[in-house]
Amino acid sequence: MELDQAKIPQATAKRLPLYYRFINNLHSQGKQRVSSKELSEAVKVDSATIRRDFSYFGALGKKGYGYNVNYLLTFFRKTLDQDEVTRVALIGVGNLGTAFLHYNFTKNNNTKIEMAFDAQEEKVGNDIGGVPVYHIDQLEEHLSDGISVAILTVPANEAQRIADRLVEAGIIGVLNFTPARISVPEGIRVHHIDLAVELQALAYFLKHYPLDHEEA
Ligand code: ATP
Repeated sequence: MELDQAKIPQATAKRLPLYYRFINNLHSQGKQRVSSKELSEAVKVDSATIRRDFSYFGALGKKGYGYNVNYLLTFFRKTLDQDEVTRVALIGVGNLGTAFLHYNFTKNNNTKIEMAFDAQEEKVGNDIGGVPVYHIDQLEEHLSDGISVAILTVPANEAQRIADRLVEAGIIGVLNFTPARISVPEGIRVHHIDLAVELQALAYFLKHYPLDHEEA
């Protein structure tokens, strides 16, 4: 099951966690096999795309049998490094940040928010959902070994300054929930999630591209 990671297109790689979650659930239910149609309905990806994606994983579905759940699970675990926990820091313990601290990320994958930072004294020293909150002035002190990813839930005007410090402190991946577009040096990955924009886009699509029954 040797995998040449470079050969997996990025769009396929992005769907990996989605597939993994579903396959993991099937496995816990004791299911041995799954058809591309079943997968397609569950993850809402068309079955042709699923078949193409899975061919990159070396998983070839057999007619009348489908895919072997154990094979897929082993593959996804290995590829997504499920044996290795990705340790995460969260910056900005406001409404959104607090919700993330309460959210159980480890239910389906191996990421763990280990510490949080905020600028407000009254938030510092708290323990939210088992995660300690430190003062942002102590970022460099606490962001030691092994924490490679940061979630940014600070106000937009603070985002760039904090991102610079995070990168300086060794963070290589940023999940940016602020509306600010941040610049980082080459080699640092930023994924940007703007909930307001996503919602606006959905509303626009509903209005201008209504789904007909065929598509839905
Ligand atoms: P949210 O946007 O998450 O709903 P909010 O409306 O409660 O949050 P914001 O003003 O967006 O509050 O700030 C988010 C959090 O970021 C707050 O807890 C705030 O104290 C914190 N914060 C603001 N500036 C900084 C900074 N420079 N470093 C760390 N945390 C900061």
